[in-house]
This record gives sequence, C-alpha cells and structure tokens, in this order.
Amino acid sequence: MAKLFFRYAAMNSGKSTQLLQIANNYESMDKKVALYTSAIDDRYGVGMITSRLNIQRESNTFDSGFDFLTQDYGDTACILVDEAQFMTPEQAQQLHRLAHQRNIPVICFGLRTDFQGHPFPGSAWLLSLADDVEEIKTICHCGRKATMHIRIDAAGRRVKEGPQVEIGGEARYRAVCGRCFHQG
Ligand SMILES: [Zn+2]
Repeated sequence: MAKLFFRYAAMNSGKSTQLLQIANNYESMDKKVALYTSAIDDRYGVGMITSRLNIQRESNTFDSGFDFLTQDYGDTACILVDEAQFMTPEQAQQLHRLAHQRNIPVICFGLRTDFQGHPFPGSAWLLSLADDVEEIKTICHCGRKATMHIRIDAAGRRVKEGPQVEIGGEARYRAVCGRCFHQG
C-alpha cells in the first residue's frame, strides 16, 4: 500500500534538492511524477521548484482553494509536493486519501514551524497524518542541529514580529538550533 510521507526541516535545508532528486529517480525508471508547489511562493516565478544547486523545474501549483482529489493523475507513480507548509488542513487530508484510497505514494516537503516557532497548519496536519515522517537535518552556526529558523531584515537584524507568510527569499531566513532561537 502507498504511504503519505512528510519530510520536514528548517529553512535552507536542501528540501527542494531532495524533491527534484526523487523526481529524477522515478523518471529514470520511466515512471511519471506529479509535481506541486505553493502558488504563493513566487521567489523564482510561479510554478517553479528551484533547488539551491540551481536546478529548476516547472511544477503544478496549489492555492488554498485547490482540491488534490479532483486532479487526473493517470498513471502517476508518485506525487511530490514542495512548500507543503502552505497547505490547508483539508489538503493534507486529501493527500492522505490519495495515498490510501488510490494507492499513489505522496511525498511532501515543508517547514515545520514559522520564524516565530509557531506551527504551520499544513505541517501540523501532515505531522499528524503522515505514515512516515522524517527530519531533514541542517546545522546551526553554533554547530548544533538546527530545528528552527529566524527571519532577518535586509541589515541582518532579527525580525520577531510580522506575518507568518512573507516570501522574501532564503537570504531572509537563517536556520538555528533551539538554544540560538531563544537567545535571539
Ligand atoms: Zn545554535
């Protein structure tokens, strides 16, 4: 039976690189993948998944009204979702159904928490529903494992207030450990 997978991390962890590598692995076996990313992440243009190694691919997009269950997946072997933290709870439920009722593996990549340490609703639901959860590890500048991230302004100062979603490029975020997160 297919599973719903959730691969979570802090910012700048190479999530998109891993996603594109998995897509490549399927395609090298002549299997089709369906790629999705959030419509609100337009850092590199709407509907593009871009890795830090500068590999880029076109992708389908989802916004808050998108329904994963009504799409035609044909002979898709795997569904890959980037920026999954921006999903609604309903969309996480839809992907769970796709894995278990239609037997299509679904692999989601996303941030667990925002820059204030609050959970993204999409990630909270994926952590609850996913059959397989794995952390993508990153290192804090102090050498500990980075589990959080902070937002910084153009001058490099930490920003503690603001909207949960502010797509400003990875340069505006820094992955940190829990201790550095609270030291400010
Ligand atoms: Zn640290």
